[in-house]
Amino acid sequence: MTDTGVSLHDGVHVDLSDGTSVVVDAGSPDGDVNVLTHAHGDHLFRGNPGPVVCSAATADIARERRPSADVERTDDPRVGLVNAGHVAGSRAAVITDPDGTRYCVTGDVSTRDRLYLDGFDPPDVDVLVVEATYGSPEYVLPPQAEVEREIHDWLADTMDRPVLLFGYSLGRAQKLQVLAAESDRERVFVTESVARITDALAPHVDATFDAAVWDADAASGGSGPAGSSPAGLGPGDALVLPRGRATRSLAERLRTERGALAAGFSGWAIDDSFRYRGNYDATFALSDHCDFPELCALVEVADPDEVYTMHGSTDELATELTRRGFRATALRKGQATLGDF
Ligand SMILES: [Zn+2]
Repeated sequence: MTDTGVSLHDGVHVDLSDGTSVVVDAGSPDGDVNVLTHAHGDHLFRGNPGPVVCSAATADIARERRPSADVERTDDPRVGLVNAGHVAGSRAAVITDPDGTRYCVTGDVSTRDRLYLDGFDPPDVDVLVVEATYGSPEYVLPPQAEVEREIHDWLADTMDRPVLLFGYSLGRAQKLQVLAAESDRERVFVTESVARITDALAPHVDATFDAAVWDADAASGGSGPAGSSPAGLGPGDALVLPRGRATRSLAERLRTERGALAAGFSGWAIDDSFRYRGNYDATFALSDHCDFPELCALVEVADPDEVYTMHGSTDELATELTRRGFRATALRKGQATLGDF
């Protein structure tokens, strides 16, 4: 085995044969070329990133999430960006070494077509760095159409109640807006934080987001029956909100005072513990990641000589890929990927 030049430190480092270091998704990017696959917090720079290779959508979302940062997009002839199908603007980095070796760093990835997103189409590369969030055999998600049908059925069956739809501000929250808008729900609201991210990405996707911003302060002032004030949440209404300390007390109040039902959306919903831990009334396996069979299929299509797994079930996925005949290694922080391990 030869040194592929891939290692995991602060972000994924790809050291090219001409001495150039390409760094993907670092908190403090320090490569000769820095790439940002998407604007989720665990991939996004913290300080000022310097020029960064990313999509226009990711740059706009990053500006919203890091208002003090100077986000300047750049490009590099050695780095191509291809749709990763994870969230709006997400891209996988396809890096071409001057010696001809082609690398792909997927970032977070989904091969499923979902609402306004097209799935990732794996490129043919020599070295693949693939995420492994659901990289263990038990993580098999239902087909997308089935998940969406279950969500629509639940939204229809609970029309006598307001519903709280919990999802990350970037990704799930926009899909939940679209699903709620497709349903018979009379009014769809989002929290301020969801609205800000939605506004940043909306110009970049083929979807309409017309949910109103929920005014929690105005809503808490009314003590009348549900729906008596414009800000009050009543039967037939839906509120899309991120999960977190700030929304926990709001959610509890809406459940107590308005009889709201809470729903959680994640690939982890295939496990019952997701529902109990989250104190949800209902959960749905709506995911922005590949499940286990999709990860295996992705690698088969990319057909790399070397594959590295990162994030999540890295050992389990590497084991399965090895069984399938790939040279697969779980990428560990600080460990070089030489043949001497
Ligand atoms: Zn992500």
